[in-house]
Amino acid sequence: MRILIIGGGIAGTAAALALDKAGFGVTVHEAHPDSGADIGAFLTLASNGMLALAQFGAAEAVARRGFELTAMRLTGDTGAVVSTVPLGETGDPLRRFRCLRRAELCAALREVAVSRGIEIRQGERFVTAVEDADGVTAEFADGTTARGDLLLGADGIHSVVRPLTDPEAAAPRYAGQRVFYGYSTEAAPPHEPGRIEMLRGSSSAMGYTVSPGGETYWFARVSADELSEDEIAGTTPAQWRERLLPLLRPDATPAADIVEATDGRLMVTNASDLASVGRWRTPRMLLVGDAAHAASPATGQGASMALEDAVVLAKSLRDAPDTASALEQYEELRRPRVERNIVNSARLTPRRAPGRLERTLKNYRAKWRGRGGGPHARSDSAAEEQELARQLDWDTPLAADSPAPQGS
Ligand SMILES: Cc1cc2nc3c(=O)[nH]c(=O)nc-3n(C[C@H](O)[C@H](O)[C@H](O)COP(=O)(O)OP(=O)(O)OC[C@H]3O[C@@H](n4cnc5c(N)ncnc54)[C@H](O)[C@@H]3O)c2cc1C
Repeated sequence: MRILIIGGGIAGTAAALALDKAGFGVTVHEAHPDSGADIGAFLTLASNGMLALAQFGAAEAVARRGFELTAMRLTGDTGAVVSTVPLGETGDPLRRFRCLRRAELCAALREVAVSRGIEIRQGERFVTAVEDADGVTAEFADGTTARGDLLLGADGIHSVVRPLTDPEAAAPRYAGQRVFYGYSTEAAPPHEPGRIEMLRGSSSAMGYTVSPGGETYWFARVSADELSEDEIAGTTPAQWRERLLPLLRPDATPAADIVEATDGRLMVTNASDLASVGRWRTPRMLLVGDAAHAASPATGQGASMALEDAVVLAKSLRDAPDTASALEQYEELRRPRVERNIVNSARLTPRRAPGRLERTLKNYRAKWRGRGGGPHARSDSAAEEQELARQLDWDTPLAADSPAPQGS
């Protein structure tokens, strides 16, 4: 089977690696003419994302580019520490949370893909596709076409493939917050290696961590109206800094000093997400990653979800008797999990800054969760994690009653 993958970001390149491992022929068609080595946002890959990467042999390459995060400390606006909790699975170094730039993650995935001979075609902007009984033909902006048996829409939140699987799907919606982020080698905030600091401010939710090389990576989420594209394009980093600082100054945390010490490497974007997309698939097309289920960034799970998608899809196509049942099984397994992430992330993205009482309650709940969240929460999440580990484990068939896969 030949699979056309539209989008060479996280979901697309990961899917290419997993599908290649499962024995399928894949070609990635990426709109950007180069590999996009811009400054860009950074992200944290959680233990579930690292576990997914390990299934198709990309965990080491990603781990080399990022640095470990093993703990998270939450501080309130008064400067009082609310809680310090371990992050994810810390036993196996390859399962630890990693912090790296999105471009570095894509570069690591691409490096592994190229080393395996997977074709990645840059500068091919997908415009539409036509499917028939024998296959699907993708059309690109430069007039070229490509033919395959299945087409994956891995083209992100503004997916061009999505209207083909679901003409009724709503456009991405503003989630209610602006996300500022930046990098500074001048800031010197209190830190410990491997710890991410979350600062619950009076008007912002900020996070920062310091890389082993001494660079502070930070983000700040602020509830406010949506920014227009013109405003984003026409505002300089120094102007953004001046707009953000008054929101941070009242707090007894290092937030304002970090932003003050940040030079031109300061950016802002709108936090957006997708309402549930009713139809992820047609007989020969399927959406994966943000194209199907973009969440606002608050849970920090979008990239990890895309990596999980890759493994579950490859296993579904490998194990199911035909493509139709594979795609059905894939959606059945993935939809509840990724849609829960959208809802959880939206809950953490309030459209207005919480008042002091709400913040106190939130901090209290966070502390409680950090201690295990009560017996119910613990057993539910343990069962879920066990099921996820089963779904991701490459050698375990997806359906509990299937025979073990050959030659893996
Ligand atoms: C500010 C911010 C912070 C975030 N932080 C985190 C975090 O800490 N942890 C985390 O896990 N996630 C985080 N996320 C979410 C994460 O970045 C996304 O979930 C992830 O990038 C989704 O990967 P994707 O491959 O589906 O989409 P994208 O990364 O958007 O990739 C889509 C690719 O498709 C290409 N493309 C688009 N249109 C076309 C076309 N017509 N033809 C061909 N190619 C096309 C694009 O050029 C791109 O390469 C964050 C997101 C934001 C905005």
